[in-house]
Amino acid sequence: MSDAQSAVSSSPTASTATAPLPLGSTIDYDKFLDCVHCGLCTSFCPTYLETGNENDSPRGRIYLMRAVTDGRLDLTPTVQRHLDLCLDCRSCETACPSGVQYGRLIEPFRVEMQHAEARRGEGESKSWFRQFIMYGLFPYPKRMRWALWPARIMQTLGLDRLFESVGLMKLLPKKLQRMQSQLPRLQAPSPAFPDVLPAIGPKRARVGLFTGCVADAMFGHVNWATARVLQANGCEVVIPKSQACCGAIHYHSGADAPALDFANQNATAFNLDELDAVIINVAGCGSMLKDYGHVAHEVAPQDQAQQERLDKFAHKVMDISEFLMRLGPIKPQGQVKLRATYHDACHLVHAQKIREQPRDLLSIVPGLELVPLVESEICCGAAGSYNLTEPEMSDRLAQRKLNHILATQPDAVITGNAGCSLQIQASIRKAGHAIWVAHPMEILDLSYRQLPVPKFK
Ligand code: SF4
Ligand code: SF4
Repeated sequence: MSDAQSAVSSSPTASTATAPLPLGSTIDYDKFLDCVHCGLCTSFCPTYLETGNENDSPRGRIYLMRAVTDGRLDLTPTVQRHLDLCLDCRSCETACPSGVQYGRLIEPFRVEMQHAEARRGEGESKSWFRQFIMYGLFPYPKRMRWALWPARIMQTLGLDRLFESVGLMKLLPKKLQRMQSQLPRLQAPSPAFPDVLPAIGPKRARVGLFTGCVADAMFGHVNWATARVLQANGCEVVIPKSQACCGAIHYHSGADAPALDFANQNATAFNLDELDAVIINVAGCGSMLKDYGHVAHEVAPQDQAQQERLDKFAHKVMDISEFLMRLGPIKPQGQVKLRATYHDACHLVHAQKIREQPRDLLSIVPGLELVPLVESEICCGAAGSYNLTEPEMSDRLAQRKLNHILATQPDAVITGNAGCSLQIQASIRKAGHAIWVAHPMEILDLSYRQLPVPKFK
């Protein structure tokens, strides 16, 4: 008997007269049945690799969710703990030979868990952080930029290191301490985008650029690098000001209604009939944008017009590396003399199945040496807001990733996701190393513009 099965049979609440919570009702039940319990996914699951507990594996979690849905198991704190610990990295989807769509199980199930929590009047301890930081700050780039100013000033004056060394940061609430410790060395704010940037040379495509929220506030330079690379490849780039957060922060923490509002705002912000693609350079946001059709189906299946609108939007979305490889990239000329390794962001490689395109793009950059990374497809522990909500597991995975990175002796780690970038740079900095964490577009942009590699510390 597996641990998951024993979790069911040994649960004090299983098979009792207690009415089960009405969970799992929005899930297409056949998706549970796709799992044949073969266990081939377990060794690809980061949490199972760390804990060795079957309940922390994809097979175990599917078993738990199905048992709760069937009413054979209550959603006890222990069951919820195993489900909360899932990174939603979807590595199990890549490994599964039966085509189990794990994301389509855990994501709606989490929405229902949060609704159940609200009905029970629980989750209050999480609510201030969710309401004011996750929902009130992160999705709004202007607010984020304002909120980052004190950190920027402290970094410039060296006060952050001083406060850390004398223990003043410990006066902050735990989650804010954690956020502060994850902050990268902040660059000067990037200038605002115009509405349109022209193609350089003969025009080959007209694309929309999705700039994001946290990414826009903290990685504006990556958005600009992406836009310049698109221009250098003959693309006219449209940047609608009315676009909004992708909604992933909300949806992945169970707040489905605001996530759907953001989806609708984005679907109307981009004039899809005049665009060849909507380009995204952040794996997590890209995965969410491509899932808008699923979200509409799960949240409001009766609204057909909304479903069609969001499906149409989702089909236009392309990751920047996916788009450029399909377009045929113009070879850049500048030397970028770096020994680098590439970390696969989960929501690029597992959720979007984009594995070769970033590597193929980087292979055309003169001077760049790309060294393979062991376990490059295993999550670094960032996983959206997971590094704030599950710090212990997040740190274990960050350390695991760091060990593999250091073994490659790189000058740079390249990755296509803002969350991975924050997580990896924080663990590198804490370990006292000087390694540049870059987005693939920063590397290409340097090469197209024939600029020297920047100094990093
Ligand atoms: S999710 Fe896939 S790989 Fe994992 S146990 Fe089920 S069928 Fe097997
Ligand atoms: S999504 Fe990731 S953490 Fe969750 S069960 Fe699948 S492999 Fe494990």
